[in-house]
Amino acid sequence: MTTSTTEPTAPLPTQVLEALIAIVGREHVLTDPEITASYSHDWSGRYAGSIFGVVRPASTDEVSSIVKVCAAHRIPVLPQGGNTGLVGGSVPGPTDPSMLIVSTRRLNRLDPVDERVGQVTVGAGVTLGELHAHANAAGWNYGVDLASRESCTVGGNIGTNAGGIRVCCYGMTRKQVVGIEVVLPDGSIMSHLSGLMKDNTGYNFPSLFTGSEGTLGVVTAARLALVRPPRASAVALIGVRDAQHALDIVNSAVPAGSRLLAAEILDAPLLRLIADTASLPMPLPSPSPHVLLLETESAAPGDIAMDLPDDVEAVIATDQSTKARFWRYRELAGETVGRLGITHRFDVSVPRHRWDEFSQAVRVAVMELPDVHHYFSFGHLADGNLHLEVIGPAADDERADETVLNLVADFGGSISAEHGVGRQKAKYLHLSRSASELAAMRAIKTAFDPHGLFNPGALLLVEAN
Ligand SMILES: Cc1cc2nc3c(=O)[nH]c(=O)nc-3n(C[C@H](O)[C@H](O)[C@H](O)COP(=O)(O)OP(=O)(O)OC[C@H]3O[C@@H](n4cnc5c(N)ncnc54)[C@H](O)[C@@H]3O)c2cc1C
Repeated sequence: MTTSTTEPTAPLPTQVLEALIAIVGREHVLTDPEITASYSHDWSGRYAGSIFGVVRPASTDEVSSIVKVCAAHRIPVLPQGGNTGLVGGSVPGPTDPSMLIVSTRRLNRLDPVDERVGQVTVGAGVTLGELHAHANAAGWNYGVDLASRESCTVGGNIGTNAGGIRVCCYGMTRKQVVGIEVVLPDGSIMSHLSGLMKDNTGYNFPSLFTGSEGTLGVVTAARLALVRPPRASAVALIGVRDAQHALDIVNSAVPAGSRLLAAEILDAPLLRLIADTASLPMPLPSPSPHVLLLETESAAPGDIAMDLPDDVEAVIATDQSTKARFWRYRELAGETVGRLGITHRFDVSVPRHRWDEFSQAVRVAVMELPDVHHYFSFGHLADGNLHLEVIGPAADDERADETVLNLVADFGGSISAEHGVGRQKAKYLHLSRSASELAAMRAIKTAFDPHGLFNPGALLLVEAN
């Protein structure tokens, strides 16, 4: 891990450079380190590595030709979408070989929504925000939503099996992917975008490639299931004592005939920081240890389908602009913390009934580490998914990783709830996966990528690939 911005771009062999230029045109092969720095450094500021450059194909055939050139010259390839990943999977690490970044941003196909089945086929480089706008214009929603929606891409969401704020209602990305098109590490194209409702013809490739973190090929397009928008909704901000108090409220808040659309929690220091940084008022009159954001579906605009206990302090909104204002406190969390410096980010899940016990144990353990200046927590409460943010230790200081991830394992949790494994957690994967699961993963990796050219070092350690 490094935060250097001056590492040289490794020179591409002339033959390879010329072949890439012939495929995509000179303007889409980027080799100037000033320009490529934003592709070789990740969003957290914690990860960066050496790259040969960035190539920006505009079609699946161009991706196929690029990958064939790389395979012939044994050039490692790293598929990249919006580079909003938070686990060092979207950039090489400092000890990795140089890689060629294949940026998918120009794979921006947006087919018309198929009204008959509520599906759409889109290119991997379409941003989540563009997909939402496209689906909404046709009267549909896409079930996955994240605060990084304007930058992250469908391909990156598939690569990480992204979760986000609507998982409690619609599930994670894997649940939405009904068909996939991928360029495999030998350059061949595997396309299955028919979107059949029932299709039990053997191994399920959409599922395998979802969460594969760029280690098995480049996803170039996907067939995605859409959902009908909620009729209307209400958003509440509620002061709570702890996660169990919040969960009790969630469990009784949704009346029959309504649906839970979101249940998010923020700790008080983070809420204060967000309010101060964004010049927002504190949302509730009295301070409380945590704030719960709840969104439920209601039958008509203005209705509130939400049963809250009498003894909590809450504000509730049904109009669009107030709901958006309430959501801002939660949506600004990652960005606000990132302004304080290099952030060690943890995205973990624990059994929901152990959330408070784990939260207390991990806070104590992290605060005992040297150099920790700030510690915040927030998360997707309904999914048992906590985000922990540690600021102070240097980028390559792994003591917080060791402390947090081992503790997660002790509590029977997962070291990655939704961000993926990347380079941050590759060496800790055994904490969440058995030896036989790891062996099966390596066998799959070798079957697809026998020369280990696709995103080496992410998800699986290189020596074990
Ligand atoms: C402010 C903020 C909020 C966030 N909130 C959430 C959240 O709520 N939930 C959540 O799950 N994540 C969240 N994230 C993390 C991130 O946005 C997601 O992981 C997202 O899915 C990454 O998409 P991307 O296009 O930026 O992918 P990248 O960062 O470019 O890549 C991520 C991984 O996917 C692989 N990949 C990318 N494109 C392809 C492709 N076409 N084919 C094969 N592999 C590919 C890469 O190799 C890499 O391993 C957040 C990030 C930020 C900055």
